[in-house]
Amino acid sequence: MAAYDYDLFVIGGGSGGVRAGRLAAQMGKRVGIAEEYRYGGTCVIRGCVPKKLLVYASQFSETFEDAAGYGWTVPDARFDWPTLIANKDREIARLEGIYRGGLDRAGAETFATRAVLEGAHEIRLLAEDRVVTAETILIATGGRPNPHAALPGHEFCISSNEAFHLEQLPRAIVIAGGGYIAVEFANIFHGLGVETTLIYRGREILGRFDIDLRQMLHEAMEKKGIRILCQEIFQRIEKRADGRLDAHTSGDKVLTVDQVMLALGRNPNTEQLGLDKAGVETGKAGEIVVDAWSRTSVPHIYAIGDVTNRLQLTPVAIHEAMCFLETVYRGNPVSPDHDCVATAVFSQPEIGTVGLTEEDAGKRYDELDIYRAVFRPMRTAFPGREDRMMMKLIVDSATRKVVGAHVLGPDAGEMAQLLGVAVKAGLTKDDFDRTMAIHPTAAEEMVTLYEPTCRVKDGERVG
Ligand SMILES: Cc1cc2nc3c(=O)[nH]c(=O)nc-3n(C[C@H](O)[C@H](O)[C@H](O)COP(=O)(O)OP(=O)(O)OC[C@H]3O[C@@H](n4cnc5c(N)ncnc54)[C@H](O)[C@@H]3O)c2cc1C
Repeated sequence: MAAYDYDLFVIGGGSGGVRAGRLAAQMGKRVGIAEEYRYGGTCVIRGCVPKKLLVYASQFSETFEDAAGYGWTVPDARFDWPTLIANKDREIARLEGIYRGGLDRAGAETFATRAVLEGAHEIRLLAEDRVVTAETILIATGGRPNPHAALPGHEFCISSNEAFHLEQLPRAIVIAGGGYIAVEFANIFHGLGVETTLIYRGREILGRFDIDLRQMLHEAMEKKGIRILCQEIFQRIEKRADGRLDAHTSGDKVLTVDQVMLALGRNPNTEQLGLDKAGVETGKAGEIVVDAWSRTSVPHIYAIGDVTNRLQLTPVAIHEAMCFLETVYRGNPVSPDHDCVATAVFSQPEIGTVGLTEEDAGKRYDELDIYRAVFRPMRTAFPGREDRMMMKLIVDSATRKVVGAHVLGPDAGEMAQLLGVAVKAGLTKDDFDRTMAIHPTAAEEMVTLYEPTCRVKDGERVG
């Protein structure tokens, strides 16, 4: 008789947990998985997927405007927020069904409950008020928005979670944060016709991205009409008699809006998870500390995805799940590769990026050649938009290896996925030069950047 109820118990049915649970079950393991909210997790239910649907919706305002330049007469366009949200909810429910169905078909036992550790091999299923045991436990509980509890009036604010379910589209919104979620939502709301302000304590939005991308996006967003306040924070949020909100800032401004959204980072979901009962260690931010193979301080308990606070991205959580399966069930220890991860910001204009920023490359390499093209995308010529697109390659002068590739403009995310292959493979600038252009495209600029725009020596631009 088996010593444990399950070979593997997964806590959390999001990107990482579902992948690990489904494939382990397909491998013949006895798998249990618990999800306290909805299967699919942050990405499917209140992250990447609904966000991208809202991004699509918000892009139509410019598309309708641009159509006139191409000879179309577009009648007065009207937008209905409840229709968008209902359609989005239908799609999310469909995807949720696919995630749960995949687990069921693979033979995993799914539980709709919060689960917490009761001991090193024991898991309490709260909704069923019973304890099950497992030989191996995988914690994939993700993260949640930082509520900024120290801010007076934070209880009047929404996070990205609520932004997906607002009953009405606000007339005016202020969003706090400078990360990709704040920036993306600022563009979404602006595109849907909301008077939008972004407030960020740092010098420039999107701290971890290449400086040219950050500055050019900032400029482009302001040109569209998004107000951006950098080096400024909220002091307090007050509810007015008319139901609107007054956001008082450190710059002595009072912004009167219908919604205040906080996008100030995400905290790992480790509170009251019973980690102490099992002896699982956490770090300063509350994240679960893991080794290179996603193993926690307890050898048979593993953790993957956002709860480990490594790289908070869906493909990374899924990759970590695959490495976990190789390591634990295929006798082939594989540690997740977090180097050179391509990523996108679905701002308007979009960002696609892979590899090192100019600043980080300057610290790592003695000399760099920077290739940069800034141009007007062909599509915007007729409508007379001022939009500019940018492509940038960062090249190690000694080896000619392309160590960073950055794009700002339409479809930048799609381009970055393919650039990611080239940069990950360690291709050189000469390989890019030998590649024939596809004409007429915007992406052809990436293979026709013949002369460096400047050099960087010991971290400084030298002309
Ligand atoms: C607004 C937004 C936009 C995003 N956009 C992108 C994007 O464009 N691209 C991208 O790659 N990433 C994006 N992300 C990040 C991405 O969603 C996460 O990196 C990814 O979902 C992490 O997967 P995970 O499995 O670690 O956790 P999650 O997907 O968060 O899943 C964890 C699950 O565990 C459940 N849970 C927690 N505690 C318990 C418990 N005790 N018992 C049972 N269940 C529990 C939660 O309900 C949740 O469903 C976005 C995130 C947000 C918030």
